[in-house]
Amino acid sequence: RSKRRQGSGYHFFSEEMNHQAVQRLQQEVQLSRALNQQEFELHYQPKIRLADGVMVGVEALIRWNDPVRGMIPPNDFIPLAEETGLIMPLSQWIMTEACQQVVRWQKAGLPPLTMAINLSARQFQDPLFIENIANILRKTGVNPACIELEITESMLMENMDDVLPMLHQLKGLGVSLAIDDFGTGYSSLAYLKQMPIDVLKVDRAFVKDIGAGKKDRAITCAIILLAQQLELKVVAEGIETQEQAEFLTSSGCNLGQGFLYSRPLQVAALEKALRNTQLTSA
Ligand code: C2E
Ligand code: MG
Ligand code: MG
Ligand code: MG
Repeated sequence: RSKRRQGSGYHFFSEEMNHQAVQRLQQEVQLSRALNQQEFELHYQPKIRLADGVMVGVEALIRWNDPVRGMIPPNDFIPLAEETGLIMPLSQWIMTEACQQVVRWQKAGLPPLTMAINLSARQFQDPLFIENIANILRKTGVNPACIELEITESMLMENMDDVLPMLHQLKGLGVSLAIDDFGTGYSSLAYLKQMPIDVLKVDRAFVKDIGAGKKDRAITCAIILLAQQLELKVVAEGIETQEQAEFLTSSGCNLGQGFLYSRPLQVAALEKALRNTQLTSA
């Protein structure tokens, strides 16, 4: 498996490659141990109705709480999980945990929230993907209308012919679908109208540049307008300043997430925020 062309022949396990291979194997072992030891946790970032600051939903964001290294962000382990295939059992756990959480909140009498869950491109290659999701929805008894599955633009474009029918199947289960990080991929706008999508999430990069200049604002406005014309909900990601929030609101974007309102929270902290019912930027 690990061979590299060098001169005329293949050198198996050069010193450096050996080191890399060992390191990778260690990481893989750690990751799979973490799954067994239940070291993963979901944090929840509030999704806010910009007009009045009310929390209307959350996005589940995974963290690896390693007993030695502390809280590890998803970008540091999701790629390895995807390479090794561990993303499959991990994604099952994420989906189950997020759905159970919705049910727990509902039973506790908390105000209803939508739960956004990030999908991995690899899941679309799993022949049991749709069946697995259907099973989790059924077993947890969650109302599928509360569940929003987030798919990035690049995931869609990778294999549109296979993905499109699966999106329709997912919709058939009663969940909503969102395009995450919209505007950063290379999707043809023509595809948008074919896809059974409910939500566009404006990528943080555009929100960040709102203060930068007229052209940057023009792009954000165009995405919001596009969403409105296609009758999609639009969510702005990564709102950090009052100025950004005001611009987005006046441009017709009604939902947002970002550090201005709240960072992703552990479940207890999220519940506390929810009991205060309103999260304002003040
Ligand atoms: P994403 O789905 O686009 O999530 C948004 C990311 O932006 C999160 O980073 C969030 O903490 C961060 N963020 C939110 N508001 C702000 C803000 O105002 N400023 C800044 N600078 N950042 C903000 P996080 O949690 O590190 O997640 C990174 C990516 O990892 C996610 O991007 C998503 O693609 C992936 N990911 C996270 N959780 C999962 C999961 O459960 N499954 C899968 N497959 N991927 C996940
Ligand atoms: Mg997301
Ligand atoms: Mg995003
Ligand atoms: Mg992202």
